[in-house]
Amino acid sequence: MIRQAPVMRLCISCRKTYDRKNLIKITKDHTQGIMFQRGMGRSAYICKSKKCCSDSKIKKKLQKALKTSLEPEFIDIFEKEISSYNNYSNQGI
Ligand SMILES: [Zn+2]
Repeated sequence: MIRQAPVMRLCISCRKTYDRKNLIKITKDHTQGIMFQRGMGRSAYICKSKKCCSDSKIKKKLQKALKTSLEPEFIDIFEKEISSYNNYSNQGI
């Protein structure tokens, strides 16, 4: 069996590269708007470290990376999504 090389992507917050599987993907989909973990279009990645999930400038960085302005509606969903990763790491899993 041939092991596939991991797809490395850059975290927009800490600017380190990680295996794509360990990153939260946010995509500005051409037809459906901004989506998590799916969609086709310009994408940005955030690693699941506590530092990046609680980065106060993350929304600005995200807007810059996606070249779009984020709707308040999306920011709500985004913050919930991000905080769920925070909880996840707090539990030490
Ligand atoms: Zn990061």
